[in-house]
Amino acid sequence: MEKFFVDSTQVFNDNIHISKEDSRHIQKVLRKRIGDRIYITINQSSTFLCEIISFDNGIVICQKIEQVLENTETNINISLFQCIAKYEKMDDIIQKATQLGVKEVYPVISNRVVVKLDEQTKIKKVQRWSKIAQEASKQCKRMTIPKVENVIFLTNICNYAQKYDIILLAYENDKTNLKEILQSCKQENVKNIGVVIGPEGGFDIEEVDELLNCENICSVSLGNRILRTETASIALISNILYEFGEL
Ligand code: SAM
Repeated sequence: MEKFFVDSTQVFNDNIHISKEDSRHIQKVLRKRIGDRIYITINQSSTFLCEIISFDNGIVICQKIEQVLENTETNINISLFQCIAKYEKMDDIIQKATQLGVKEVYPVISNRVVVKLDEQTKIKKVQRWSKIAQEASKQCKRMTIPKVENVIFLTNICNYAQKYDIILLAYENDKTNLKEILQSCKQENVKNIGVVIGPEGGFDIEEVDELLNCENICSVSLGNRILRTETASIALISNILYEFGEL
């Protein structure tokens, strides 16, 4: 069953008014009829099974039937710092990271990122990636939509270090065993983990040295093979989830 997000301004007692864009989708693409049911999450916190009760000037109006208590969010908070990848790869990474449950995505510019973005394009890209995160959240029935933050530079990550119990920097020239690091994170009841993934060309050694000087950041290996950037992010996030019993 399809799901949609609304905020409290769209809720009137037991009735919920779906946004124009989603209403169009419900009517024209999904071809829903009065009496059909959908899930609606309000304020990214509570989800209801709802029934469509009318189509009013293009707006779909639903009635709450019952609250759905199942929590689809992970207990561990993972933020992805992803160096911007070429073509549609960044879209795919954001879509898959959303499905896996990441809470935030920071698009990152590092020395070897080849995509060139002026200020206007950065804003447009963040809007596009936010939309991808929203669509993926609907599809996988999450209760929240990961926030795609503004584009940052790699060195800025140090300024975020305090927000996390640990930031894992995936670095192919490192031999630090991921399983050991994650097991100790689990023992220490770590709740907030950042992961940093380099671009197609990898990190410069100077960039790695600078980041490793920051508090809370440590490098990890993802095995003896070189993974593509889009594989590395998904592999690292999946392994964290597995180790914390979320897969
Ligand atoms: N510079 C590398 C090269 O050309 O040989 C490849 C970089 S890799 C395609 C892109 C990113 O994925 C890396 O910067 C790193 O963050 C991550 N990555 C890929 N394989 C990895 C591995 N075996 N261990 C840790 N990180 C890896």
